[in-house]
Amino acid sequence: MYGAKSLSNGNVPWAAGKHPGLDLVCTTDTNILAIRGGKVISSNGYGDWGQHVVIEQDDGLFCIYAHMSTRFYAVGDRVERGRRVGIMGSTGQVTAAHLHIELQSKYYDAFSHRDMARYLNIANQLGSIVYLN
Ligand SMILES: [Zn+2]
Repeated sequence: MYGAKSLSNGNVPWAAGKHPGLDLVCTTDTNILAIRGGKVISSNGYGDWGQHVVIEQDDGLFCIYAHMSTRFYAVGDRVERGRRVGIMGSTGQVTAAHLHIELQSKYYDAFSHRDMARYLNIANQLGSIVYLN
C-alpha cells in the first residue's frame, strides 16, 4: 500500500552482510523517544519488526522503531520530538532485546535507507554504511 517492492529476490542490503538500520541495546524498561517529530503511518505488531511504529518525519524521511514491547501511538497520530514512542523489547525477528531504528527515504524500501549513525551524529563502530544503489 506504500508502493512496497518485493524483497524476496535475495538481492537485499542485509543479504550481503549489510544492515539497513542501527541496533541499540539497553534494558527492557527503556523508553524509546522520537528522534524527530512527524506523523505515524504504521503501528502494529506483525512481521520481523515485531511491535513497531513508523513515523513520517517532518524532514520527509521515514523512521522505523522496531522490536518494542509496547507502542504508544496509532496510525494518524502526531508525535513530537522527544515523546515516548514505545518501550524497548524483543518482539519480532530478534535474538535479544534491542531497538532497531532505521531511516528510509522511501517507506518500505530498504534500499532507500540512510546512515542512521551519521544522521544522529553518533559513533558507529562499523563505519559508514555502503550504499548499494
Ligand atoms: Zn537491526
